[in-house]
Amino acid sequence: MTIIDMTGTSTVTSHFINGAWTDSGGPTFPVRNPLDDELVADAAAGSAADAEAAVTAAAAAFPSWAAMAPGTRQALFLRAADIVERRQEELVQLMAVEGGASRAFSTFQIRLSAAMLRQAASWGYLPVGDVIRSDTPGRTATVTRKPLGVVAGFTPWNGAFYLAWRTFLLPMAFGNTTVIKPSELAPISSGLIHAEILQEAGFPAGTFNVVTNAPGDAAAIAEVFFTSPAVRCINFTGSDKTARILGERAGRALKRMVLELGGFNPAIILEDADVEESIKAVTFGAFLHQGQVCMNTRKVYVARSLHDEFVSGLAERVRALKTGDPTDPAVIIGPLINDHAVEQIDARVTDAVDRGATLVTGGKVEGRVYQPTILTHVPADAICTTGADETFGPLLVVEAFDDAETALRDAQDTPYGLSASIMTRDRVRGLAMAERFDSGIVHVNAPTMASEAALPVGGVKDSGWGRSGYYSIEDFTELRLTTMSSEPGRYPF
Ligand code: ADP
Repeated sequence: MTIIDMTGTSTVTSHFINGAWTDSGGPTFPVRNPLDDELVADAAAGSAADAEAAVTAAAAAFPSWAAMAPGTRQALFLRAADIVERRQEELVQLMAVEGGASRAFSTFQIRLSAAMLRQAASWGYLPVGDVIRSDTPGRTATVTRKPLGVVAGFTPWNGAFYLAWRTFLLPMAFGNTTVIKPSELAPISSGLIHAEILQEAGFPAGTFNVVTNAPGDAAAIAEVFFTSPAVRCINFTGSDKTARILGERAGRALKRMVLELGGFNPAIILEDADVEESIKAVTFGAFLHQGQVCMNTRKVYVARSLHDEFVSGLAERVRALKTGDPTDPAVIIGPLINDHAVEQIDARVTDAVDRGATLVTGGKVEGRVYQPTILTHVPADAICTTGADETFGPLLVVEAFDDAETALRDAQDTPYGLSASIMTRDRVRGLAMAERFDSGIVHVNAPTMASEAALPVGGVKDSGWGRSGYYSIEDFTELRLTTMSSEPGRYPF
């Protein structure tokens, strides 16, 4: 089956439960192209009953998936990676029409997804434990990593294709089975297309399940995850606002949560930085996917001696970014995901300009395509510069600094701590500054947005808990301590 006919005819999508496309016969909800509201598909509006069926299937599939020989699992992951690459053009088209992703962004995601599949394919062969010396004569102690059981995932609409793999593939690589609830805004590229790929690759029924839901119905599905004893962990990528609601509920249910949330990612350009290189890094970091990624650069602190040269070079490069329909491969800036996103950025640009900020470029919108925007001289109380809340769109604030210590302090004056960038020719100084950043990720001489499948991405503070890549073994397994005594015990009574 092909879920979506790329010639433009919309289809009705089903859930994917226990290895089968399951039409619950219930209501559907429309999925629309953010560029022009054209119907992409009608998706199944799932209920708690669908989520229960999916959790039951995942729980039933768990013992044999957990026990599967590493080589058998490896072959499945490698096949899935090949399918992802074979279907590249179709995926590029899907991400453009469903999520407004440029070709630059969708091919980036496809590359990362195939890489992550191939890396995870080998993890089954890595050591799973340690032997620990015991003080008790004749006792041997071992610790072994065991999968948790069913991991439920919420996948986001923005880096939909890659971030969905990240949500379920990592737990699966460590022997868990999964149920995911894709974003209502892009359910195909954040989950259903993955089901097609895994089905073709031959993954056993029930190891991966998808239940889609209409806007407003997420809580009922989440409640199934929280109340089901089989679900041992909830892996959420989204906003910190929703994460707080889910985290409170998880606390009552005593469920483990992994959270990949927002960021207010700063770049610091020191006075000895390569200006040309900094302009390229910031343009990419701030404007990839029109600023709708949690790792986009939101604010640049640039040494005053470089400020004017940097801003004029940056503005020139940013003005040259083609905007419009992302099915045009030359377009870099496609539409924002919905009207709310347009209203948010527009209100914040207006707020800053009203307070006296300088609009260097951008600030205009056509439909939902918002021009990439640079603001300088932004007063400290303007919403877009406070660091309290990320503006999820193509808006970058640039500020000059006189003293790098002050810039380092100001750059961390935010509740978030996801990614940061430091540009300098002095690598030792760059590393020393990186060391002092309270952030999950710091790149020296690279943009805030510099993901690779193998690198552990994750935040501190309000940016979340947990890491991607192999380090996620700590989130998606638990340690079993086993001891064995070969001598009679000595007891005090
Ligand atoms: P974004 O703003 O990036 O769309 P959100 O954090 O609002 O991110 O939503 C992410 C996911 O959380 C979506 O799949 C949505 O369905 C789900 N969600 C939102 N509100 C709730 C809620 N009250 N209970 C459970 N899930 C929710």
